[in-house]
Amino acid sequence: MEWWKDVKAIESIRDFALLQALTPFKFPTQLFQHARTIQTHINLLVDAVSQDYQFLSDTLKSVVANDDFTRRLMEIHKKVTSDNKQTCTFSIQRSDYMIDKKPGVGPTLKQIEMNTIAASCFALTQDKMENLFSFVRSRFQPSSENSSIPPNKCLDILTEGIAIAWKEYASDKSCVLFAIDEGETNIYDSRPIEFLLWTKYKIPVIYRSLLELSKQGRLGPQRELLVSGQEVAVVYFRTGYSPEQYPTDKEWDARLLCEMSRASNCPSVGYQLAGTKKVQQALTVPGILEKFCDDSDAVASIRTTFAGIYSLENNAEGDWAIERALKNPADFVVKPQREGGGNNFYDDDVRIFLEGIRHTSEREAYILMDRVHPPVQPGLVLWLGKNIVTPVDLTCELGILGVFLRKQSEVMMNVEGGYILRSKSATTNEVGLNAGFGALDLPTLVS
Ligand code: ADP
Ligand code: MG
Repeated sequence: MEWWKDVKAIESIRDFALLQALTPFKFPTQLFQHARTIQTHINLLVDAVSQDYQFLSDTLKSVVANDDFTRRLMEIHKKVTSDNKQTCTFSIQRSDYMIDKKPGVGPTLKQIEMNTIAASCFALTQDKMENLFSFVRSRFQPSSENSSIPPNKCLDILTEGIAIAWKEYASDKSCVLFAIDEGETNIYDSRPIEFLLWTKYKIPVIYRSLLELSKQGRLGPQRELLVSGQEVAVVYFRTGYSPEQYPTDKEWDARLLCEMSRASNCPSVGYQLAGTKKVQQALTVPGILEKFCDDSDAVASIRTTFAGIYSLENNAEGDWAIERALKNPADFVVKPQREGGGNNFYDDDVRIFLEGIRHTSEREAYILMDRVHPPVQPGLVLWLGKNIVTPVDLTCELGILGVFLRKQSEVMMNVEGGYILRSKSATTNEVGLNAGFGALDLPTLVS
């Protein structure tokens, strides 16, 4: 019998997802290194974009007119941008990539999106995944070939970033606030950060939802953020990226309160806006990347990872994009300005959706992207709940951690901080872990 048909003992390893990969995904070394090398340039790029109010406002104008969520973020950004008291600009972000494999040419790396708010899975990946894979290999596959899993200190580096941001606030009595969902379930990805902040740096963490913050938070005389009387040095948002997380004005008030305060917001609203799909599309327009990045090698290197992304604005260019997508819907993905998975359109839904909105202004809130066709590999996956392991044809998505900290014009930290890898069944469109489509995985580098 195959060894994996008898694996029952590792059911308890994950509590948040439906799937867990048990064997590493073969990932081309060169593409992996490419993604890592450009991350510090991407950190600088996002920082420059977030500081350019006019660019954000112009780029998002048509979205703001058609999407209330982006409009409200923009309103906060506008209010605070000329009177920003945050101690540092602080970002923990993740650039996601897929491998594109077109017939007849070698694999290329394509950026899927930049996550500038609540980028997750780092605490779930570091050490835990290596330990699991090494257990599976030595226990069940002792004769399998050695894997080459790149070292990964993403949890340590992310936590170090928070610690430095906390230190810059220069108050021993202050704490770090994790802003979370009401009834947060993904605690396994934040508790290790809290533990490390305390054990390594003696920095206390408090948790609040946006609703709790609206009741318990206020600004002190120097715009200190005080939550139930405790002073907050850093707000780390693990919520706030989706309209459902702001059911009433109270949650928006809480977001504004944090943004107005002296605490470093991770991320600021400007950073969140810089991570929208519309901005991602604008950055692919010739000449725009150069505007924000004066290193021509970095520009060229980042640009090779861009897939075609098209505006759906009400003009000739938007009409042209719609015509193309209607002819070949399977070659495109339609995306709104949303995060968290499950919001995009694929295959025939592209056609149905675009036909529905092509004569309305609503289309301006979306972008169209070339569909990436990733290579498929077999892997072993544990189905949690069902407690069975099965071989599945998988595709993968790489996420590179970027940590960036700037105090006025001084960059205090700009690092590529490690990675996560998620895989999904080749027959599903999206890789959302919480949504149940994806599995945490690890890469093994191959030439
Ligand atoms: P979200 O902010 O909701 O995570 P993404 O842009 O990351 O939005 O899209 C969600 C998922 O959809 C991705 O993780 C990926 O699996 C899939 N996806 C997104 N863009 C493409 C694309 N251009 N080609 C193929 N799959 C894509
Ligand atoms: Mg995503």
